[in-house]
Amino acid sequence: MSERAIIVGAGPAGLTLALELCSRTRIQPVVLEKTGFMGGISRTANYKGNRIDIGGHRFFSKSDRVMRWWLDILPVERPDAGLDPETTDLVMLVRSRLSRIYYLRKFFSYPLSLTPRTVWNLGLWRTARAGMSYFRSMLFPVRPEKTLEDFFINRFGRELYRTFFRSYTEKVWGVPCAQINAEWGAQRIKGLSISRALLHMLKKMRHSPDLAQKGTETSLIERFLYPKFGPGQLWEEVARRVRDQGGEILTNGNVVGIRQDGAGRVLGVRATHAPTGDTRLFEGQLFCSTMPVRELVQALDPPAPAAVRGIAGGLMYRDFLTVGVLCRDLKLKNRTPAGLERVKDNWIYIQESGVEVGRLQIFNNWSPYMVADPRTTWIGMEYFCNQGDAIWSRTDAELIDLAKRELEAISIADPADVLDATVIRMPDAYPAYFGSYDRFPALIQWSKQFENLLLIGRNGMHRYNNQDHSMLAAMLAVDQIISGARDPDALWSLNTEQQYHEEK
Ligand SMILES: Cc1cc2nc3c(=O)[nH]c(=O)nc-3n(C[C@H](O)[C@H](O)[C@H](O)COP(=O)(O)OP(=O)(O)OC[C@H]3O[C@@H](n4cnc5c(N)ncnc54)[C@H](O)[C@@H]3O)c2cc1C
Repeated sequence: MSERAIIVGAGPAGLTLALELCSRTRIQPVVLEKTGFMGGISRTANYKGNRIDIGGHRFFSKSDRVMRWWLDILPVERPDAGLDPETTDLVMLVRSRLSRIYYLRKFFSYPLSLTPRTVWNLGLWRTARAGMSYFRSMLFPVRPEKTLEDFFINRFGRELYRTFFRSYTEKVWGVPCAQINAEWGAQRIKGLSISRALLHMLKKMRHSPDLAQKGTETSLIERFLYPKFGPGQLWEEVARRVRDQGGEILTNGNVVGIRQDGAGRVLGVRATHAPTGDTRLFEGQLFCSTMPVRELVQALDPPAPAAVRGIAGGLMYRDFLTVGVLCRDLKLKNRTPAGLERVKDNWIYIQESGVEVGRLQIFNNWSPYMVADPRTTWIGMEYFCNQGDAIWSRTDAELIDLAKRELEAISIADPADVLDATVIRMPDAYPAYFGSYDRFPALIQWSKQFENLLLIGRNGMHRYNNQDHSMLAAMLAVDQIISGARDPDALWSLNTEQQYHEEK
């Protein structure tokens, strides 16, 4: 290996790039990772044998290439072929998705569907109002559709928007829906509407054997793959393979400087080793960044033009924290003929007013192997926040206290049943489509001048990517390195939802 590629970040994008380089080229990857963990946002935290998946990561993709890649790392469970999760660790489980909305202390299906149960839970008066307002929106849609508020109203009507979308979305983003670009909705919940939801219900009768579920909208994906010990297990295995094949991965290496020659070439990156404070320069022929664009531009030496720094400085992110709570039991139960049992949801959207929690994960339902003692229920209370705000600034003990109070307030668990708890913080979890985002194309244009710097990944491209999209960008980058046909436009136009537009 004579050439070196310096990769910033050991998340899905950086690790995919590193493994693709190892297996398909003679270029040695050197990955610099700020934290001590593999997988970035897709890592799995381990607290006394109880695992936390930050955000809950379904493994599904409409890209066959990504699906094959994942299954090459962790094959799908098949007890008859010796792949029994009871006895094998390196295995993907096939899981069913259940996520519901918790509102008025009742469950509503997610995505919302018009069933007798919905009408019953909502009450006749609310349902009638929602129906009338839906038809009003069909007849008189908001035009032009500029904001996320317009997007929701045009698809669901003002009443359903107010009831089910406004407060949750504002909790997630910390700003009113009227200030968020409609593009966010178009990317994330594109294709979801009342008519689609009804159609989906009818189609649901036919069971799809196709795990990629290519004809299904993102929010509706009903079965997904899941590593036995959570998403981080897959990325730890990828990192092990990278190291085995001659790649280097350095943890606790925070990239703080990008040396460039001012004429379109990056010369090296400076990383500070957190425990010692030592700073080292890493030189190579190729550089690839998955770190947030805002930090990348700030790290350039000599600095980027003022206009570019202005755009980068105005990019915004939303941060995220999970309070992991180990419960003896939940009050929330499914009533079955055999008695009361634990609800089956993977995650629950909390729509109740008066609490700050946005979502609740039940890790037992993602994989039973995520929980040290299966008799206990291991949940994640998710709070959306900004670094330094009133939620983020609380101490761990205060956050645990808050989580317990909120569990009681919305009748989910009794604080006396809480056995243990911990807090995991994830900065920059969501790249935001507001702030200076509308000027982002100018920054993209400027970045293309660098002949040996690739920007890929979620925060690396400031795109609301899932793992598969971050991985596809990495794979395409390696295709280009191999063919010698450098084409940043192709990377940037790798629309995050490209595969989802295909009606294969
Ligand atoms: C709540 C939530 C739910 C999600 N659910 C799903 C899902 O169901 N399915 C799915 O596929 N995806 C899901 N995702 C998206 C998924 O987490 C991301 O797409 C994926 O982790 C992005 O990978 P990445 O490598 O592009 O970026 P990241 O995961 O952000 O990795 C970037 C890495 O770079 C490192 N880094 C940053 N700055 C520096 C620096 N200066 N120096 C060195 N290293 C640095 C970071 O520490 C990190 O390890 C979800 C995300 C969230 C927030």
